[in-house]
Amino acid sequence: MTEPAVKGRCPSLMTPMESGDGLLVRVKPRAATLTAVQAEAVAAAAGRFGNGMIEPTNRGHLQVRGLTDSTVDGFAEAIAGIGLAAAGPQAEAVRNVLADPLGPDDPAAQFDSHALAHRLSAVLETDPAFHDLPDKFGLLVDAGVALPLAGRTADIMVRADGEGLFIALAGGDCRLSLPESGLEEAVRRLLAAFLAWRKGQGSAAASPAPKRMRAMAAACGARAVFDAAGLNGARAVESVPEPAADRPPAGFVAVAGAAQGCFAAAAPFGSMEAGDLAELADLSRRFADGTIRVTPWKSLILWGVLPANAAAVGAAVSDIGLVAAADDVRSRIVACAGRPRCAGGHADTRADAAYLTAAGLPGTGLLHLSGCAKGCAHPAPAGATLVAGPGGYGLVRNGRAGDAPERTGLTPEAVARILAAAKPAGREPPARETVRTGAGWG
Ligand code: SF4
Repeated sequence: MTEPAVKGRCPSLMTPMESGDGLLVRVKPRAATLTAVQAEAVAAAAGRFGNGMIEPTNRGHLQVRGLTDSTVDGFAEAIAGIGLAAAGPQAEAVRNVLADPLGPDDPAAQFDSHALAHRLSAVLETDPAFHDLPDKFGLLVDAGVALPLAGRTADIMVRADGEGLFIALAGGDCRLSLPESGLEEAVRRLLAAFLAWRKGQGSAAASPAPKRMRAMAAACGARAVFDAAGLNGARAVESVPEPAADRPPAGFVAVAGAAQGCFAAAAPFGSMEAGDLAELADLSRRFADGTIRVTPWKSLILWGVLPANAAAVGAAVSDIGLVAAADDVRSRIVACAGRPRCAGGHADTRADAAYLTAAGLPGTGLLHLSGCAKGCAHPAPAGATLVAGPGGYGLVRNGRAGDAPERTGLTPEAVARILAAAKPAGREPPARETVRTGAGWG
């Protein structure tokens, strides 16, 4: 069922990627939603066929690690058995639709983003014309008001604001206003226009065909992209969204107009154990609507929690070991897989994140630990970014992992001292070896 692991491709369920701890694959929930049964099945399969580590990704997928050549097919079959797989590898690879977590459950939503996300997923899966899309190419559908995908980008984005529903393109300076009934067809046409343009752009190794809409918008202009799709009426806008540096906080979130709210449980340093997901599914049955909503913020959402139950849910989420409150310092730290899980990593970023947590982080900004300059875990700027290299960490303030560091060659202890220096009554960081990193991190 699966294809051989290939480097340089985006992994998906049937196209595994080799990493430092074995093969990794991605499970793609439809319309940002897993039923409790599906969540339990993903957890069971991750434990049985992988190493039990699950990572929510920036694209709203669940990355499962530690599979092997002999277990990867079994995992894919288990996921197909719960309705979370397309019919073939290419259909699965291009099925990239990020939706806001609440969809029509948000009373202020202007359209049913989950219904549209389901329809667009079906288009990508079932129309062979779109199976030539690059596997990095993605769509975004956002009607969220309580939990919007503000600041998130994708190649083609469907959004709503005070002026109604519209489509925007990554890297474009135009938006096209449309009624809800015209959205699906417009996205289809834009996909076809991109593929037609891409076909003429070369495919030799020396000149690979562009993979993202941003390239077409830059080459032709966004308005010309809409025109090529036969969609007239796009109008210029002053700015296009860039990836946001912040994320919704962990904990209970009230939803305007609803008697219930949602509870965001964040994966500490971007990673959780399979059992954590199964326990969240149980919590959803007891306190929420029996689903788990996936997000691009490395958190999972329980929807339908009564305010009176928020404290009980928070205590249970905390007992599981997930981040349950905005003032938990782990909610301000993002770490990629790092060494040894990722072959490209120069440091065990998650162990170092645990060390820095114990050392006490000052301030309120986001700290991003990246195992190399690629910055997979957080493409946006952060208050402080630590980028591991062969000689230690580089420190970038208010920038991205790929930016020039102001300091290099830093040990975790040195980083702790530098960050603590900003604190009026800083305390000495503990010895590195006294910090437990926790199962699944080290
Ligand atoms: S940032 Fe580098 S080390 Fe971290 S997951 Fe990406 S490639 Fe691996």
